[in-house]
Amino acid sequence: MADLLRFTALKAYDLLTGRHLLARLQELNRTQWLDREELLTLQRKKLHGLLAYAYRYVPYYQRLFDQVNFKPDDVLADLTALHKLPVLTKAIIRENFDDMLTTEGKRRAQMEKLTTGGSTGRPLIFMQDSNFRDYVTADIHRHLGWAGWKLGQPHAYIWGASFEVGRWQVLRVKLMDWVLNRFLTTAYVLSEEGMSAFAAQVRRRRPRILFGYPSSLYHFAEFVREHGMDDIKFEAIFGSAEVLYPAQRQFIEEVFAGKMFNRYGSRELGGIACECEAHTALHASIENVYIEILRELEGNEPTQPGETGHIVVTNLNNYGMPFIRYSIEDMGAWSSRESCPCGRELPLMELIQGRRIDMFKTRDGRDVWGGFASPLFGMEGVKQFQVVQKSLDLVVARIVKEGELDQARLDTIERTVKVALGDHVRVEFEFPDEIPILDSGKYRYVISEISENRRDQGVS
Ligand SMILES: [Zn+2]
Repeated sequence: MADLLRFTALKAYDLLTGRHLLARLQELNRTQWLDREELLTLQRKKLHGLLAYAYRYVPYYQRLFDQVNFKPDDVLADLTALHKLPVLTKAIIRENFDDMLTTEGKRRAQMEKLTTGGSTGRPLIFMQDSNFRDYVTADIHRHLGWAGWKLGQPHAYIWGASFEVGRWQVLRVKLMDWVLNRFLTTAYVLSEEGMSAFAAQVRRRRPRILFGYPSSLYHFAEFVREHGMDDIKFEAIFGSAEVLYPAQRQFIEEVFAGKMFNRYGSRELGGIACECEAHTALHASIENVYIEILRELEGNEPTQPGETGHIVVTNLNNYGMPFIRYSIEDMGAWSSRESCPCGRELPLMELIQGRRIDMFKTRDGRDVWGGFASPLFGMEGVKQFQVVQKSLDLVVARIVKEGELDQARLDTIERTVKVALGDHVRVEFEFPDEIPILDSGKYRYVISEISENRRDQGVS
């Protein structure tokens, strides 16, 4: 009865809001069984549609395509025609933000602004239309289906909650939580108290599936083990948006007595790939993304299966602000496996490398995910930042300035740190000319020297 009610509510939700969540889910559940040829044909058709739209409605691409003499129709004959277009970087997006938005009024009206919580020193601001968001949610639910989940069954998330959510958005999210039968605890502050409350909720609602960042899942698993909560089990655990380390996986699977599904995705692109029930590698969602893995970002030389390279993604659904050949700053490889026992012919990718988020410690024993900094730090005057926890009482905020950075903004930063870590914490500012890049080619935007030392000593 409740299931039918939820199904009806989801239909009503789609009707009321003009969204197409249910239709998209059904579509992805169907296309995942197409054979490889059919999938590639579908993908090329969607790619062509996006390129044609971008050329018609998006000033940045109009200019770029003309400059390099690229015609959207070129990809119909030869996909490598796409190589004429340079790789899209975060810097290019920032410089051309307004020109990258569609000029089509109808679509502009349904755009939502978002910020990445990514591991680079400066979050990216971008916009997404509702068609894109429908596909993102539908893709998550398709992947849950690979673990046996059905629409309406309870499932739990340990996930970041945005600070920027308005009242109407909160209501909508609440409605969706009920309709989809999902519940969430925030990953920003995983206190003992928060984890106890979450554990109680899990006991009450008995979700079969848990979804979260690997670091948060690992943390919750440690908590469950420490407190001897032997009844907290999940059949399937999805780790997403962070690297899943083999040791984490093993521990999480052991504690929860379930199988882990490694998933790869990002806020700006949605789901990119996910493990299926055969757990061979990650199936790429090629109905939603066109993926290239390149030896160098400058050249257009693709890697061989098994060879790690730079991942470059074109999202096929976000017409509102198209990301064409976007460098997501992750490394990965095509799998050397040709096929998967599950029978799906979505191409297989190997483990993604290169992202890591640190946990901060507090004096009262909480672990706080460093991502607390990201939504607020997309601010004017801040070119790059790095927040370093020196001790339980001292945090250093390194900021590379861009123009003027007034005191009010510095106060906001200080408040954010205190809210997350405690009022007694002292915040010191440093203003270097640059923040060095790691060997992996990335910035670390949060560093907890306490956590680092703990790891060195093998304590964590
Ligand atoms: Zn498979």
